Amino acid sequence: MKECNQCGQCCIKYGNGGLTTSTRQINYWSDHRPDIFKYVKDGHIWFEPETGDPMERCPWLRKEPDKNIYTCKIYFDRPDDCKFYPSTLNEMVIDDCEMIEPKDLTNPRQGQKSLDIIMQNSRLEFEY
Ligand code: SF4
Ligand code: SF4
Repeated sequence: MKECNQCGQCCIKYGNGGLTTSTRQINYWSDHRPDIFKYVKDGHIWFEPETGDPMERCPWLRKEPDKNIYTCKIYFDRPDDCKFYPSTLNEMVIDDCEMIEPKDLTNPRQGQKSLDIIMQNSRLEFEY
């Protein structure tokens, strides 16, 4: 299992209505991050603040100039779903996640273990 290479595929796939987050986090955005909260509508993400229409792309995804990598503009306050992704090897196969190596597919149990180690810190952010 490799570290995330920031290919952006997951953010592009799930950023248009495929993400959820907790009420706790929405309350946090409401109190401390009005710039994020304005893209929330009835507890769901992401919606155009001006029109209330669902967005076709996550508003926080940025492509680095002259590089084929993407970054998250709200990384430290990103939705809980984003902190947990990827969570399973199966999900990564379906999504063509580039963290997967051939050895993860020949030994899926070990592949999942490696993923869980890599994701440990990101998932811990959920606790705070
Ligand atoms: S909030 Fe950040 S991590 Fe989540 S989909 Fe958008 S750009 Fe990706
Ligand atoms: S699809 Fe996988 S490698 Fe690409 S940005 Fe998402 S987690 Fe990282």
